[in-house]
Amino acid sequence: MIFKVFKKQELARLYELLAVNVIVGPVSRGNDRNGKPLYDFDVVYDFDELALDYTQTVHSPKRFVLPYQETLSTFAITREGWEKHVDINVYRPLVFFGMHACDINALNKLDLVLAQSTYPNPYYMGKRKNLFIIGLDCNPEPQCFCRSMGTDSAIHGFDVFLTDLGGKYFAEILSATAFDLLNQITCKDPSAKELALYKHVTHEKSTRYTATVDTSDLTKILDLEFESPAWDYWGEKCLSCGTCANVCPTCYCYGVEEHVDLGLQHASKTKSLHSCNLIDFAKVAGGHNFRPTSASRLKYRYYHKHRGFVEAFEESLCVGCGRCGAACLADITPPAVIASVRGKE
Ligand code: SF4
Ligand code: SF4
Repeated sequence: MIFKVFKKQELARLYELLAVNVIVGPVSRGNDRNGKPLYDFDVVYDFDELALDYTQTVHSPKRFVLPYQETLSTFAITREGWEKHVDINVYRPLVFFGMHACDINALNKLDLVLAQSTYPNPYYMGKRKNLFIIGLDCNPEPQCFCRSMGTDSAIHGFDVFLTDLGGKYFAEILSATAFDLLNQITCKDPSAKELALYKHVTHEKSTRYTATVDTSDLTKILDLEFESPAWDYWGEKCLSCGTCANVCPTCYCYGVEEHVDLGLQHASKTKSLHSCNLIDFAKVAGGHNFRPTSASRLKYRYYHKHRGFVEAFEESLCVGCGRCGAACLADITPPAVIASVRGKE
């Protein structure tokens, strides 16, 4: 890792150097009904559109590597027979300008399944490999429990990560591309004073988390508590709306549909993100539903994130961003669910 420091006004210059690509970053989306600012990730066309002091976006960045709906292939009848057309839907390199550590770690977790497993997903990999990520330090929100999940800082999965030191940014450089780019703006090696300030700023941030989840022995606790009444308690509240999976940066479950046109000349195969909380998620041919109750579906989501994924990859599939709890109309949050399964509430 190489460290540099540059004045804040140089960030606009960095933007200009990258602007030949598609740039995605945090943008303001007005306020919620309580007056709290809302943010989302979107394509930007000007540096001033970026809301770099954003708290947390409602949606995660996953739709830029895992679109909610994507055509996988199309088929057409021809004179000679039929043709298949496959497009992995990558058009231009995409620059992510200002991604927080939790979302960088979420992409790293998606990589484990979609890029590094036995059967890598070419649609995901095509987009992921064409990403240039500028990470940005954050201010913990009340719902953030990333520190409990070990995802409050990122050590890989970005090109350069910026920490605000007041009038300047402290840059952690991981890629040769980022190193070359930073050489084109005015930056310098950090002084001893700036290194000390960086350590102070990161330590001070670590003291500002209020939400926590006790992850100690959690896989064993979940095994022991498979029949816990806590699942019924939360299941009765759950509306099976799927919002939690929609906003979650690591939920990647999907369904595939095939469509044939009425003339039987064209067909397509489409992938759509799904949610294990939706009523038909475990419904199979013949009509049997393996998880007919909201409690069984909610439980499955927690077991996938905090039990099955840990068994497969030795880490949780949750980065503790708290988006699911913030968006849930039934006030179901991972800290509350896990505490009650542990018998603490
Ligand atoms: S936990 Fe909340 S957001 Fe998720 S499906 Fe249930 S009601 Fe919807
Ligand atoms: S389960 Fe909830 S807290 Fe965990 S990564 Fe998904 S949205 Fe964030």
